[in-house]
This record gives sequence, structure tokens and C-alpha cells, in this order.
Amino acid sequence: MTITRFAPSPTGLLHVGNIRTALHNFLLAKAAGGRFLLRIDDTDAERSKEEYVDAIRKDLAWLGLTVDGEERQSQRLTVYEEAFEKLKASGRVYRCYETSQELELRRKVLLGRGLPPIYDRAALNLTEADHAAKEAEGIAPHWRFLIDRDQEIAWDDGIRGPVRFEGDRLSDPVIRRADGSWLYMLPSAVDDIAMGVTDVLRGEDHVSNTAVQVQMFTALGATPPRFAHEALLTGSEGKLSKRLGSMGVEHFREQGLEPMAINSLLARIGTSQPIVAEPSMEALAAGFDLATFGRAPARFDEAELLRLNAQIVHGMDYAQVAGLLPEGMDEAAWLAVRPNLEKASEAHEWWQVIAGDVTRPDMPDDDRAFIAMAADAAEAMAWDDAAWKTLTQNLKDATGRKGKALFLPLRQALTGMDHGPDMNTLLPLIGKNRAVARLRAAA
Ligand code: GLU
Repeated sequence: MTITRFAPSPTGLLHVGNIRTALHNFLLAKAAGGRFLLRIDDTDAERSKEEYVDAIRKDLAWLGLTVDGEERQSQRLTVYEEAFEKLKASGRVYRCYETSQELELRRKVLLGRGLPPIYDRAALNLTEADHAAKEAEGIAPHWRFLIDRDQEIAWDDGIRGPVRFEGDRLSDPVIRRADGSWLYMLPSAVDDIAMGVTDVLRGEDHVSNTAVQVQMFTALGATPPRFAHEALLTGSEGKLSKRLGSMGVEHFREQGLEPMAINSLLARIGTSQPIVAEPSMEALAAGFDLATFGRAPARFDEAELLRLNAQIVHGMDYAQVAGLLPEGMDEAAWLAVRPNLEKASEAHEWWQVIAGDVTRPDMPDDDRAFIAMAADAAEAMAWDDAAWKTLTQNLKDATGRKGKALFLPLRQALTGMDHGPDMNTLLPLIGKNRAVARLRAAA
């Protein structure tokens, strides 16, 4: 059974990049009939906030990313402690005392010499007496994971293909702070083991973390999951702008965008597949395939999002939108205006055109005379579903007008606009009384 997880740190709101990662993990699981877990990475007690945990849950629900389980790292501290003890017993963690200033200085020296800023393992040379002295001074150690440099690190990445790391190119990561709190690296690997995660799909900024975590899985006696690292998201201008970096569900909701438009876009950008509006998660999952993901950054384009949104809206049933429509707007009205909408919320404006007050157009005299005739014709004729056909045919016969000269003044007088839904469907909805009144007002 495929099990994936989305593992946000609740230190802020989800942005479009996080949403994309969540969606891909959801789709990867669903494509395989598997499970999608939400794991709240809240070991950083100071920066993690409950309001963000709530917001993350709400955002996922709004997008339709239903989770099959939720875990919180802050409730699993004893599990990390056990794993830590195991690593301690096998000599895979060690105590360090360097201050961040000292480490920064060493990094600068190495970089200045053109060398990679890898921790020099100075703390490995400390004797028990050195440790005792630190303890006597009241200085607690922080802990690093010891990379096995003789062991080659390799995995077959679901997107990048075969990846290899030389152990000596990696810094032993700090996994635990002096106050006993955990950094991201170890709890994540421990949880992926405990939760049976089979596939870890995340951004390519995590590739070197994966190299370390592959060794952690092995050191803990587990087989690493399958890994895939996707290229990062950029704006249409080619970088992750500040705006895009803070754009999330709140923005999409305010814009009146449909979750499936966002999902359709985020599921396919950065892949070789066409970007089409899919009405359901099932349809998106069916086409989801890591093999189609490219190495180039995925470009997020808001204009494309709007195009997809219009396509989604054009396929929406009355039942899906009934709750959002203005009072009195029935199925016939929805179906009439739907092809003209980019967003479902725009139905309000068209309902106004059908049932509300319209702007009286400013027309040249000959058009007004023509509209006066139209008012009489409309008043005299039987009113049914063919009303527009009947009316325009009458007027064509009587005046010889055709094409734009025939249709445009009528549309303007009847709707107050010079474009809009098909008049064949619109006119019966406007109804005889309103139509005649609007024509008279314009004449
Ligand atoms: N909490 C980590 C992050 O937000 C999770 C990374 C991962 O998927 O392992 O970057």
C-alpha cells in the first residue's frame, strides 16, 4: 500500500509552493489507491502556532485534499527519544559544544579557501574528561548525527533518476539542540519509518537532507522509502516572487477561484503533460505520473489559472453552485450565463442583467426609432422559448435590418450591454414585461 505524507511546519500559512507539494503527495497516494497523511512538523515549540495548524487543515479541506490520518510531532517526543538512544548505543550521534559564532567563523574560513563548508568533526576528538569539564561548567551539548563516510549514498529518485552522494561531501547534521529539542532531520526519518511512509515526494531543496536521511533510515534498521524531488515553483517571470511566496488559499478564495482550477494547474505545471481543467481529483490522480515531471522549474501563471477556472465553471452543474447564487436565480438562468463566466461569482452580475435594473443605452435617433418598433413588436407577440427568433425575424422583415445593425441595438436595449450570453436563452429569462419595459425605456 502506497503511503505518502505532507509534512508542513505550522510556522506560517501554506503558500502555493507548499500546496503543490501537498497536492502531489495526495495524488501520488490516490493514483495508487493508497493513503495520504498530514504530519504536523511542530517540534519547534517557539515558532509553531496552533492557528497555523488550524489554517493548514482548513486549506487542505478547501482544496479537496482529504487526509487519511494526522500526526503531530510534538506528541511523539518519546518515540524520537527511543530512536536517539538507539543511535547513541551504536555510536551514530555525538556531543558538540561549538557556538554558532564559532561555527560561522569556521564556515567562512573554509569558504574563503574555496572548500565546502563541512563540519570538521572537532568534537569527535573530545575526551570524557573534556565532556565532564563542560558539564561542570553547566554547558550542555548539542548532538550531531555521524555520517558513515565509507558508505556510498545512492537512491533512484522518482524524478531525478539515479542520485549519488559521497559521504565526505556531507556535514554531520545537528539533530538535537542543547535544550533537548529536536531539529527537523531525525524526527522526520523516525516518523517516516513509524508511519510506514513508502514515498517521500518533496522539493529539490531537500536533496541533501535525503542523503543524510537515507543513512538515518539504515542506521535505524529500516529500508529507506522511495524518494522523489521535484523542481521548485517559480512565477511566470522566472523566480519565486515575494507575492507568489505568500500567495495561498486565502488569496484564491478571495479571487473567487475554484479549488479544482488551482489543483488542475498545480498538478501539471512542470510536467510534460498538457494543462487542462479536470473536474475531479479522481481525474487528476488518474493522469498523475512522476515520470512526466521535468527538471526545469515549474512556472505558475495566474492568467493560466483564470483560463482553467473558466473551463471548470463552464462545466459546473446548478447543484454545485446553487448555494452561491443570488436569490431567485434558477437552473435555467445558471445554464444561460455559465458560458460567459470566468468565475462563478460573476453570475451575480448576469442575474442583475436578467432580473434587475439595466443601464439605459445612449443611442442614435434611428436606432431609437428601431427600438420603439421592437417594443411594439415584443408587446404584440406570443412569448415563448423562441421569443428572440420571433422578435428579430419580425424586425428584419419590417425594417430590412440585419446582422449587427439588427442585433446590437436590441441587445443594448434589453441588457444594457453590448456583449453577453446568447440572446436566445437570455430573452425568455428576462421575460416579456421586463423586455418591453426596457425597450420602451431605451427608445
Ligand atoms: N517540515 C519539513 C518542511 O516543511 C518537511 C520536509 C519533508 O517533506 O520531509 O520542509
